[in-house]
Amino acid sequence: MPLRARKRRQCRGSREAAAGASLGGELAAARGLLDSDLVGGDNLGAMKISRFRYNFRYSFNPRKPRLQWRIARAYLDLFSGRRHPLRYVDVNVGLACNLRCEHCFAENFHHRAAKELSNEEWASVISQAKDLGAIALGFTGGEPLAYSRLYDLIRLARPEEMLIIVCTNGTLLTPKKARELRHVGVDIVQMSVDSGDAEEHDRFRGREGAFEKTREAFRIAREAGLKVAAVPTVSHQNLHTEGFRRLIDWAEQEDILVNLSMAAPVGEWADNRDCLLTPEDLAELNRLVSTKAHVRRDFETNYWKQGCGAAIEKLYVTPFGDVIPCPYMHISFGNVREAPLAAIRQKMCSNSYLKGFHPRCLTAEDEEFIDKHLPRQYLKGGALPRSEEIFGEGKP
Ligand code: SF4
Repeated sequence: MPLRARKRRQCRGSREAAAGASLGGELAAARGLLDSDLVGGDNLGAMKISRFRYNFRYSFNPRKPRLQWRIARAYLDLFSGRRHPLRYVDVNVGLACNLRCEHCFAENFHHRAAKELSNEEWASVISQAKDLGAIALGFTGGEPLAYSRLYDLIRLARPEEMLIIVCTNGTLLTPKKARELRHVGVDIVQMSVDSGDAEEHDRFRGREGAFEKTREAFRIAREAGLKVAAVPTVSHQNLHTEGFRRLIDWAEQEDILVNLSMAAPVGEWADNRDCLLTPEDLAELNRLVSTKAHVRRDFETNYWKQGCGAAIEKLYVTPFGDVIPCPYMHISFGNVREAPLAAIRQKMCSNSYLKGFHPRCLTAEDEEFIDKHLPRQYLKGGALPRSEEIFGEGKP
C-alpha cells in the first residue's frame, strides 16, 4: 500500500538531535543571490540579500581567521576539481538526555557490547574529518550539555579552526554554561523547538516547562555572545498548525535562523509512516523556504549543489564509533575503530543512493528508500545494522 494512502496518526514527539549543520557556506549564499527562480516579484532581491546576510553572519567569525582560511580552501578544492571536501560532522558525545521526546532515536545508537569512544579516539576521528576537509562540527547527543567532557571534546577539536555548533534542547543552559561554551570556542547553539505554543512543544518534548526553559536559553546564549538557531521537527501533523506558524514568525522577529528537520520514521517513530510530509506538505514547505530568508532545510546547507549531502558533505559518528551518513539513516557503513574515516566515507560514496546529491531527502521524502532500507523497528541497544545487511552483500 502506498505510504500516503495509509491512515495517519498523530505524531506527538520531536527529535532531539539536530538536522545537521546550521550554516550554509558563503558559496551557497552566493548561489542564493544568483538563483532567479526561487521567488518572483519585487521582493526577490531583498529576500536574497537577506539570505546572504544570514549565511554570512552564521558562518563568519572574525575571531577565527584560520577557520576562514579553511573555508576558502574548501571552495578552492571544490572549484579546482581537486576533491569534494567534507563539510560537516555530527559528533554524538553520548546518549543520556533529560527530556523524553516521543520520537527520540538516540537509543538506536546504543551499542551495549561496546565502549564509548575515548577522548583520544575522538581526537583521531576529528583530525581525520579535518583531513577530509570538514569545516564544521556539531556536538550532539542525547543532550550534550549533560556531558561534562563536552568541553574537553570541543577543545581537542581545535575550535579556532572549526565552526563549532552545539545541538541541544536548551533546557540545561545557564548563563555560566553559556559563557563557558563561548570561552571554549563554540560559535552557534542550535536548539530544538517545535512550536510557538508552549503546550504543544512540551507535549512533543515530554516535559512540562521545557518550552519556557528553551526560550530562555535563546536569550541566555545570545547574552553570552553566541549565535543561536532553532530546529523544529516538521511533520504532516504540525506543519499547518498555528503553533508552527508562530514559531516561524517569532524567529523572524528575533532574527534567528530556522533549520527545518523533516520528520523521518526512525527510532520511536520507526513504525510511524504517518508523520511523513505529503507532496502537498512538501510544496508548502518549499514555498516557506523560498520566501523566508531565515528558514532553510538541509539542502540549503550544502556548499553549492542542491540535494541530499549525506556522505559527500556530511557524516554522523555515534558515541560507539559507528559512522552513518546522516542523523536519520541508521545504517553503519563502518566503525572508526576498524577502518579510517576516509575509507568509510568512500564506501558510502559508492552507494547508489549516496553517490551524487540525491534529489529528495532519503529519510523523509523518498518512499522507496524508506520502505526498503530504513530499519523497521526501534533497535534499542543492539548494534546498528551494517550497510551490507541493508543493501545486500557485495554492495556498500
Ligand atoms: S537523508 Fe539527506 S537530505 Fe535527508 S536528512 Fe539525511 S542528509 Fe539530509
